[in-house]
Amino acid sequence: MPLLDPEVSDQLGMLQLLDDATAFRSSRLEQLCPDCRGRRKCTEHAFDQHLVEVYKARYAAAWAEAFTAMDPGDVGELMQADDMPPTAVMLGAAIAARLREAAASGPVVTELDGQLVVIELDGQDLIEHQLLPAGNESPPPAPGISERKL
Ligand SMILES: [Zn+2]
Repeated sequence: MPLLDPEVSDQLGMLQLLDDATAFRSSRLEQLCPDCRGRRKCTEHAFDQHLVEVYKARYAAAWAEAFTAMDPGDVGELMQADDMPPTAVMLGAAIAARLREAAASGPVVTELDGQLVVIELDGQDLIEHQLLPAGNESPPPAPGISERKL
């Protein structure tokens, strides 16, 4: 199965890059510093704080741009999952869109979470079937994908 559309892949890469950059600068801000005076930051940490704000603003803009290419229903459903980071929501929506595209002309076999599955469309809903039974306990379906027993 082909990879994500290059443009979508770039958008997701930018979201992840900004996530990582924000996490890096935030962790620097959390370190104890003998030169910071309470809320008054030293030059180095004031710059970190500035960058965190810049990264967060860019992230919000990049997320909004990526959102315009996604199915709002997929995004809404994924956002209801507890603790799902916004970048993971966008990745899930991109995967759902790609699966929907791939399954448009009939069921497709692909690998999700290490399991071979058959994906087919029921209207606009993605239906996932286990290709091989993995024992008594089936893993939960991937977010945004409903499961129907055969
Ligand atoms: Zn400092």
